[in-house]
Amino acid sequence: MGVLFTKRCVLCGEMLPAAGTGRAMLCPTCASEIRQIYRCTEAIHIPGATDTVAALYYTGKVKYAMQRFKFQHKQHYADWFAAQMLPLLADRLDAWQPDLVTFMPIGWLRRRERGYNQAELLAKAIAEPLSLPCRATLRKRAFTPKQSTQKNAAARQKNAERALLPRENTEVRGKSIVLVDDIITTGATAAAAVNLLREMGATRVYVLAAARTSGK
Ligand SMILES: [Zn+2]
Repeated sequence: MGVLFTKRCVLCGEMLPAAGTGRAMLCPTCASEIRQIYRCTEAIHIPGATDTVAALYYTGKVKYAMQRFKFQHKQHYADWFAAQMLPLLADRLDAWQPDLVTFMPIGWLRRRERGYNQAELLAKAIAEPLSLPCRATLRKRAFTPKQSTQKNAAARQKNAERALLPRENTEVRGKSIVLVDDIITTGATAAAAVNLLREMGATRVYVLAAARTSGK
């Protein structure tokens, strides 16, 4: 399956050389652009989170790749995005001492339409090579209004908080949790999830995102 899917560059669609191991997922041009343009280098503040990091800026080719990952059934893109995120967590294992990796939930209707939760795919791909457990801890309330329809920051925060609920039979009490998300935009959704995990008893919550919007 991997061989079939690694023939084209994840970011630009360019055919990759047939020779080689088949593991490369970017053409040399995009690999260079990732290093030079797309790496997220700024500090991110999510209220309630002990620390927050994102791998990439949500712009240009990264934005289009993320949209294909989320909306065009490009599930295998999870491997590439997770590979961008993995070093961030690997570098912070000693500091963060995570007990559990979890992920931002999506609504069941969207999950049914899409067939997968993109944040869950990322979380699993990141947790596995580090031998960390990965479990769902939160769920999304059905029929909550979209964040993008909210008028201001206060309305977004309130809406985001209303949208999330604890999953039954999850235990985060006393734990250090890594919350995986795909994109951080305003941070309201991530903040709501962090606050809920803290209310559920998590001692520390770290946010690890694939990308964040820039210039906001
Ligand atoms: Zn490319």
